[in-house]
Amino acid sequence: MTGYDAIVVGAGASGLNCSRLLRREGLSVVVYEARERVGGRIHTFHPADGGPPLELGAQVVHGDRNPVHQLVGPGRTSPVPRRVTARIVEDGADRSMGALGSGRRAPWQLEAMLRRAPGITGLSVGTWLRAQGSTGPEAAAAREWFRQNWAADPDELSAAAVASAHRGDAGGGGGGGDVGESVGEGFGVGVGEGVGVGERVGEGVGEGEFAVEGGFARLPERLAAGLDVRLGEPVRELAHEPGRVTVRTDTGTATARAAVLTVPPAVLTAGAITGLPAQKRAAATRLPAGDGCCAVVTLDRPAPDTVIVFDVDGRAGFVRCTTGRPEALVVAKAGAAAHLRAAVADRTALAALLATALPWTSGAAVLGLAVADWGQDPYAGGAFTAPRAGLEGAAREWAEPVDGTLFFAGEATLTGFRLPWVQGALASGQRAAEQVLKALATRRT
Ligand SMILES: Cc1cc2nc3c(=O)[nH]c(=O)nc-3n(C[C@H](O)[C@H](O)[C@H](O)COP(=O)(O)OP(=O)(O)OC[C@H]3O[C@@H](n4cnc5c(N)ncnc54)[C@H](O)[C@@H]3O)c2cc1C
Repeated sequence: MTGYDAIVVGAGASGLNCSRLLRREGLSVVVYEARERVGGRIHTFHPADGGPPLELGAQVVHGDRNPVHQLVGPGRTSPVPRRVTARIVEDGADRSMGALGSGRRAPWQLEAMLRRAPGITGLSVGTWLRAQGSTGPEAAAAREWFRQNWAADPDELSAAAVASAHRGDAGGGGGGGDVGESVGEGFGVGVGEGVGVGERVGEGVGEGEFAVEGGFARLPERLAAGLDVRLGEPVRELAHEPGRVTVRTDTGTATARAAVLTVPPAVLTAGAITGLPAQKRAAATRLPAGDGCCAVVTLDRPAPDTVIVFDVDGRAGFVRCTTGRPEALVVAKAGAAAHLRAAVADRTALAALLATALPWTSGAAVLGLAVADWGQDPYAGGAFTAPRAGLEGAAREWAEPVDGTLFFAGEATLTGFRLPWVQGALASGQRAAEQVLKALATRRT
C-alpha cells in the first residue's frame, strides 16, 4: 500500500489540471485513469496519411481568453476558418444555412435571447420557446439546435440554468455577447459545436472559436507532463474516513490524505466505483449525461469543398468536411446520436446519412471508420451533463466535499453555473485543488 498526499481519479481536463496544481504546491499526487490514454472526452483522431487532425470529443476552444490558449503553449491555437460553406438538412433536403435566418428567427438568435430573458425561473427551454411564439420550421430548427448544443431535449432543459451557464462562462457579467451576431456576414451560429463564425461566447472566455494545432489532445498531454499518471487502471472502490482515503484498482490499493474524483456522475451511477456515500450516489443519479456519438468516416475520394452541415431533421447533428480531404466528421448528440450509432453499424445506412448531408459522398466507398460512442462509453456515460428542469441544486450536492477528505471536480460539478465545456472542466479542477490545499493546510495547524 502506497501513501500519497492526494489521489486524483480521472485524467481528463479537470483531473489533470487539478493534479498539476497540487504537484506545483509540492504535494505527492497519483492519477488513476481507466483508459489507455489521457484526455477523457478530449479525443483527437489523426488520419493515417498525416492529414489534419479531427476531433472525436471536444471540438473547439471557445473564446480568445480561454485558458486553453496558455495551457497548450503560445501560438498553438488558431481561429477556426471563417471561409466555410454552412448548410442545413431540412425535410430531407440539403439547403443553404442562410435559410435558417430568412423570415424566421435563427436558432442561435433564440438562444442569445434566452440568455437575457426575464421571468424564466421554473420553465423548460421547450416551454420558453413556445412562449416566444416559435412555431413550424423555426421552432423545429431551434429545438434541434438546443438538442445538439446541450445533448438534451429542450423540454428537459432548464431555461434558467441554460441562461445562467452562459452568464457563468461570460464571467458573471450577465451579458456575455451575442451569439450569432455575424449572421449577416456569414451564417452566424455557434453556441456549442463550432459551426460558428465570428460569434461572441462571453466576456469571461472572450470571443471566437479556435482549433489547437496538432489537435485538442495537446491540452491533456501538456497538462500530464511530469505527473504520475497510471493509465489503464480503473478505480473500482473508494473508501474514506476523515483524513484518509483508500483507493482500490485491479493492481492493488493506495492511500492518501485526500482524493479528488473527476469521473462523470453517469460512471458512478452505472456502479463502476463503489464505496461512495449515499448522498453522492443520489446526486450523481440526478446528473445524467446526454447522449453523444461522433464518427470520422474516411472515404475513397476528397471533399470538393469545406462544408459544415446542421441536420435540422435530427438524424446527424453536425457534419463537416474539408476541401481535398477524404474524411467526413459527424458529431451527433441527443436523438441524432442514436441515429448515428445505428448507422455506423450498417454501412448502407451510414452511406445514406452522409449522402443527405454531403451529396459528394454519394457512391463513395468507406475506407475507414473511427467512432467515439460517448453514450455507450463506460468511462463517460454520455457527452456531458445538461441542466435539466428542476435539478439546479444537484450539481452543488455533487460538488460538495465530504469530510474535508473527498473532493469532486469535472464539468458536471458546474452544471447550470458554467457551460459544460473544457474551460468549465479546467475551472472545476482548479477549484478542487484549492479545496484540497486548504483542507490539508487546516489539518496541519
Ligand atoms: C461530442 C462532444 C463535443 C464537445 N465539444 C466541446 C467543444 O467544442 N468545446 C469544449 O470546450 N468542450 C466540448 N465538449 C465537452 C468537453 O469535452 C468536456 O467538458 C470535458 O472534456 C470534460 O472534462 P472532465 O475532466 O470533466 O471529464 P472527462 O474528460 O470525462 O474526464 C474524466 C476521466 O475519468 C476517467 N474515468 C472514468 N471512470 C474511471 C474510473 N473508474 N477510474 C479511473 N478513471 C476513470 C475517464 O476515462 C476520463 O478520462 C464536448 C464533449 C463531447 C462529448
